[in-house]
Amino acid sequence: MDTTSFTKKTPGNEKIEPALTPPPVEAMQTAFTNKPKVGPGKSKKRDIPEGLWTKCPACETMIFDKELDENLKVCPKCGHHFPIGSRERIHSLVETCTFEEMDATMTSIDVLRFKGASTYKSKLEQYQKNTTLKDAVVTGLGKIGPHRLALGVMDFGFLGGSMGSVVGEKLTRLIESATEKEMPVIIISTSGGARMYEGMFSLMQMAKTSAALAYHAQHRLPYISVLTHPTTAGVMASYASLGDLILAEPGAMIGFAGPRVIKDTTQAELPPDFQTAEFLLNHGLIDAIVPRREMKPRLVEYLDFLTAGKKAAAS
Ligand SMILES: [Zn+2]
Repeated sequence: MDTTSFTKKTPGNEKIEPALTPPPVEAMQTAFTNKPKVGPGKSKKRDIPEGLWTKCPACETMIFDKELDENLKVCPKCGHHFPIGSRERIHSLVETCTFEEMDATMTSIDVLRFKGASTYKSKLEQYQKNTTLKDAVVTGLGKIGPHRLALGVMDFGFLGGSMGSVVGEKLTRLIESATEKEMPVIIISTSGGARMYEGMFSLMQMAKTSAALAYHAQHRLPYISVLTHPTTAGVMASYASLGDLILAEPGAMIGFAGPRVIKDTTQAELPPDFQTAEFLLNHGLIDAIVPRREMKPRLVEYLDFLTAGKKAAAS
């Protein structure tokens, strides 16, 4: 077995790609030799996939990437949930050809003219190129089982799933459109929090999204929030924790400030499973832990229940 292909992935930060067809073994073996190039010059980087195998950080099993993709990025041995991109997630949930994306081209502007180690503008360009996303959330209307609904899915691969003006605005428009069309809302969150590059403008999104959800709730329409690893800070402190039903994926880290900050501030020893989905289920913050492969049928079940009263009233 070729060990050189094992070393590149750091779970949590890697670029999430759709199912990748591995190149033939010969390509792997010859890519680093000095053979003259034949045909139009492609860079070596493009010829070699990031890795054919991924090591599970929980049970250390080597998993064939194709198998991991087919299993919705869940370790087939121990059930560890790897990060999954927003488009793959949408694909795993909605009925084929029913998803109509909203505000697909909305992009952030560098309103503060932020300059740090690199500019906000260059960061945005870099992430847009690497992820083929415009920002950290994809929103749209679609169908899950028999239910027409508004779905927003965040992507940690885009600037740590941080919430800037675009994430806030896209979600607010999604929720408002669901209110108008009398549809349930599902938001699947993963985020490091508000986007520092947009300062106050990102914090304003907390109030804006929360207000839109309050208006949606006044119309007695259900909102299900799904928390995935990790959901923290400004996102957790706004729309992610406002669900009529709050679900989480197994092992997801969920919290406001990180455990180190809390430990330093309170000077208290924290329980070992602090800020995990399991801990929060036991303490009543979330309603259920749902493994990724069961997510779709469970969402259908919950929506059946949450929309039954309204349907009965209408008929
Ligand atoms: Zn595993």
